[in-house]
Amino acid sequence: MKHHFEQLRLDSVSRSFTNAQGQPIAALQELDLTIQRGEFIALLGPSGCGKSTALNCIAGLQPLSGGGIWLDEQRIDVLPPEKRGFGMVFQNYALFPHMSVLDNVGFGLKMRGVGKSEAMRRAREALQLVQLVGHEHKLPGQLSGGQQQRVAIARAIVIEPPLILMDEPLSNLDTKLRIEMRAEIRRIHSQLERATLYVTHDQDEALSMADRIVVMREGVVQQVATPKEVYTRPHNLHVARFMGYRNVADFTLEGTQGDGVAVSTNGVRLIGTPMAGFDSKRVSVALRPEDMERAAPGADNAFDALVSAVEYGGRDSLLLAKTAFGDIWARIGGEFVEGERISLRVPPSRVLVYDAEAA
Ligand code: ATP
Repeated sequence: MKHHFEQLRLDSVSRSFTNAQGQPIAALQELDLTIQRGEFIALLGPSGCGKSTALNCIAGLQPLSGGGIWLDEQRIDVLPPEKRGFGMVFQNYALFPHMSVLDNVGFGLKMRGVGKSEAMRRAREALQLVQLVGHEHKLPGQLSGGQQQRVAIARAIVIEPPLILMDEPLSNLDTKLRIEMRAEIRRIHSQLERATLYVTHDQDEALSMADRIVVMREGVVQQVATPKEVYTRPHNLHVARFMGYRNVADFTLEGTQGDGVAVSTNGVRLIGTPMAGFDSKRVSVALRPEDMERAAPGADNAFDALVSAVEYGGRDSLLLAKTAFGDIWARIGGEFVEGERISLRVPPSRVLVYDAEAA
């Protein structure tokens, strides 16, 4: 398998399972995706959406039920995993406990018939890249979780794979280490100049690491876009909810207003940003708690709210409040008490207006 490539192309890749009742479950439906060399792609979605299935199909650990995978002009979904030669990093590290760090990293090379001294030289190089020099002769059990994951990464990259597949590699680490390792994995990715496909259910991880994010739900891709695009312009309400737009309320479409649209319900009128064309006057409005502000008297896009619960968070507070369009969450600075009446505002660019969800 060549180490350099221009693109990996997934063409309508599908995978189904049969459940205990003999019915088919579509774990992955017609995934189309082209990954360019040098790209860092995150597959993002809630548990069970088909992320691991997609990764396993690409790695060759599971057969496809339909579609094909190409590395440039070569069709690879017909090849066994070792012939594809992709590097894999798992959540649980999967290191050999009785082997030294150096031997763990060199193992794959030896299996591929690389001579011992060459294998050790390349293993040392990989350990240098993941900054584990000095730990070569320790056993995995003598390392911290973060260090063990670095060994796993070194083991994946030492075979010089065209593509590195990572399945929730940071899930077993504590918050502080997780954030450090995000930057570390990005650095390693940039130095290698290969492609990385990274599976996660953590939006922050995907937003901070990826060049492009593939948002999945129930086996179906919902959006493929840059982190900024996914965050500011979620393609539909599923993506919006997953990206933290916790408040979704029913409104009626009044008409266009400049670049925006006017929507209203129960005496509240907001100017929002249309996310697509509309099939009817029934629309859903998505608002992030973090985009709420306290409104000055007479401000536009403002509405009244009655604070029903306050969760103090230091720099800001998370409020649950009753409004004319239902209970909403708001995260804003300042101190609040239950029962307080306040006026809130959301800028028109942060009021996302979608077609109403089918009831
Ligand atoms: P998680 O983050 O929890 O691993 P995921 O997004 O990676 O979730 P998958 O593991 O890809 O999701 O699973 C997708 C769907 O396929 C789920 O409905 C799951 O129950 C089903 N599934 C996965 N593996 C099998 C299997 N071996 N047999 C039957 N169903 C399976």
